[in-house]
Amino acid sequence: METIIAQITENEEQNQKIYEQASDILKRGGLVAFPTETVYGLGADALDEEASAKIYAAKGRPSDNPLIVHIADTKALEELSCDVTAQAKLLAEKFWPGPLTMILKKSDCVPKSSTGGLGTVAIRMPSHPVAAQLIRTSGVYIAAPSANISGKPSPTRGEHVIHDMKGRIDMIIVDDTVDIGVESTIVDLSEDVPTILRPGYITKEMLSEVLGEVRIDPAIMGSVKPGVVPKAPGMKYKHYAPKAHVVILRGPFQRYAQYVNNHAGAGVAALCYEGEEAALHVRALPCGREGDPSSQAQRLFDALRSLDAMGIHTAYARCPEKQGVGLAVYNRLLRAAAFEMIDV
Ligand code: AMP
Ligand code: MG
Repeated sequence: METIIAQITENEEQNQKIYEQASDILKRGGLVAFPTETVYGLGADALDEEASAKIYAAKGRPSDNPLIVHIADTKALEELSCDVTAQAKLLAEKFWPGPLTMILKKSDCVPKSSTGGLGTVAIRMPSHPVAAQLIRTSGVYIAAPSANISGKPSPTRGEHVIHDMKGRIDMIIVDDTVDIGVESTIVDLSEDVPTILRPGYITKEMLSEVLGEVRIDPAIMGSVKPGVVPKAPGMKYKHYAPKAHVVILRGPFQRYAQYVNNHAGAGVAALCYEGEEAALHVRALPCGREGDPSSQAQRLFDALRSLDAMGIHTAYARCPEKQGVGLAVYNRLLRAAAFEMIDV
């Protein structure tokens, strides 16, 4: 398949043509990748069963792993969900448009291919102007997971999407202003106590301020035990993994550096923090600043992808803190490392 690659520029007239072309593709059941403020999404018409089913084929995604439906107006909530709770309305008012996905009971119009066969639907209103304009111009709700091949790190740059999706989808819209760098926070509002199924830029503390008690799904912190079905099906799959073997080293920088330097060699790399490179005797990839998890979130997926481009076989990563946005970074890195962590 030939993939149209279109770059957003300062030229608004030209941008409008891009939105119109992408809208035509979406309306006739095609696939378009587009930037959001979290990561790039791979979109299809969420209410078109066949169209959203194509996303699974393009990504190589297991069919029980549902998609997130992207909207541009809160009115869409009533159409997509049969039970828009008071909590959902509060969160929409406070955090939308923005990096928060809510799980609600689905209405009949949402096809199985958009929800992986579940009775609930994931809904988000993105703040990225390109995503918002695309939803508005097309007039469709856009079902979109991240625009990567299943299991690979999520794309935070146009070149990542082109690498994974060129030849597999109809169009890629490029605009390098993805600024959060990790996927949205997912909160399940379909049961008694709101539960975070995936951590992101909107933290537990921020949600608790609006909702009171908020739980964190245990699958976030560790691996899912055999026989236990996690509530966010995406959590059970190997995820975000480069070809390189990633190991998290937990401990202060001096001991981290000592361990890395004792294991130095060709094909070994360090996923460290800015300013730490000089003390490391291997290829060092700075991944944000220590104590600044937002900067780590922005860099993480790009750094993981660079490991493969550099032919690295083993990468030793600094251990992110588990507080605030750090929990989102920790959760992604833990999966990229297939839960391998060494105390140093
Ligand atoms: P992605 O943004 O690529 O990570 O894909 C969407 C994520 O949302 C996956 O981790 C899904 O498991 C999760 N998700 C989507 N719909 C639901 C739902 N109804 N219930 C729980 N998790 C969901
Ligand atoms: Mg994904």
